Amino acid sequence: MGRGYVPGIVKKLTLIFMIDALGFDQAGGGEFLPGAGSDRRPVETVLGYSSACIPSIMTGKAPNEHGHLSMYRRAQGGRTVFGGPTKLLSRLARWSDRGHWRMRQWLHGHLRRKGITGYFSLYEVPLELLGEFDLCQTRNIYQPQAFDTEGLSGLGDLLADRELSRVWDWTVPEEQAWAELDEELAAARRRVLFFYTPELDSLMHVVGPEHAQSHDRLSFYSDRIGRALTKAREQYEEVDLFVFGDHGMAEVRGVHDLWSLLKEAEFKVPSDLLYFLDSTMARFWFQHPDAEAWVRKLLQTQEYGRIVDREELQSLGAFFPDADYGELIFLLDEGHILAPSFMGKEPVRGMHGYHPNAGASFTTLVTNRPDIEYPKNLYQLHQVLRESLGEVLT
Ligand SMILES: [Zn+2]
Repeated sequence: MGRGYVPGIVKKLTLIFMIDALGFDQAGGGEFLPGAGSDRRPVETVLGYSSACIPSIMTGKAPNEHGHLSMYRRAQGGRTVFGGPTKLLSRLARWSDRGHWRMRQWLHGHLRRKGITGYFSLYEVPLELLGEFDLCQTRNIYQPQAFDTEGLSGLGDLLADRELSRVWDWTVPEEQAWAELDEELAAARRRVLFFYTPELDSLMHVVGPEHAQSHDRLSFYSDRIGRALTKAREQYEEVDLFVFGDHGMAEVRGVHDLWSLLKEAEFKVPSDLLYFLDSTMARFWFQHPDAEAWVRKLLQTQEYGRIVDREELQSLGAFFPDADYGELIFLLDEGHILAPSFMGKEPVRGMHGYHPNAGASFTTLVTNRPDIEYPKNLYQLHQVLRESLGEVLT
């Protein structure tokens, strides 16, 4: 038992569930958590993937303020986690297509041993190009001091006192997290319980958001969170419930192999032309004077997406003056993906990471606090959470 906290004396609990990819389409209707707050509206996400959206929820800031947009950014000034032994590996990778899976496994362990605590995956990023990039998230963003480099305070800083708060992030398997949550609710010691799971996101990527398995999983969360709320109400006098996602999920309708077309370029990669192919964005850097014109011409013929200009990036809070995430960003229309890409060889059925205004991009907030100012976007959602945490932690 925690020092000074006796069961029964904690009167109020803030119970937070951040379900990755719980969109307005998933939880906006009355079937999801029918007992908890009927006022649900679309909450606008930010440009980028969870690696951008979750930092915006944690800090209340835009991607160009917290510095996170896509998992992979350009290595600037020679700074990259993929230095040292990774360079040797990338040279080896150039010689042979074999053994890349083992190399990736080794590299993953190597980065963890080096102290990278943030979430990352090597996906299918070509090993020979890794040294050109860096990870945007080297620290676990749920922990205190996660945004110190950017001079920002995150929710993790408010949740630093482990006597008062408990956080389950992606490092805890979901089943274990549910069991531990039940134990915490029974003990009624903490004032804040913050539960994150990436499982719905993973499933909807594989089967698509409209698949029966996705609906079943939503029913599971609806039921499981409902039970947690009932249990919490038995133990605490007051419970604030907040359930939300970081973005939504669109059904994939079009798959495009831009990579093959880029390989036809007469420019050398990476010395003339460098690109990173996310699932829904192709991001470019140019060294050769003609490379940009060639790429722009090629992209004009690709009707499933468009170049996002500087003005629009600025309005989305996603313009980086040093081109950390690309000098040129080609963003796909909703429902379209690049495959193969650096994220995977095979296409998936569900995807996000489109324009924040695309229909399926929005998340929502389910809450039993009708008195709060309902958030319009992730920044305001952060404010709602921060205020509730302030109420129970001070
Ligand atoms: Zn995802």
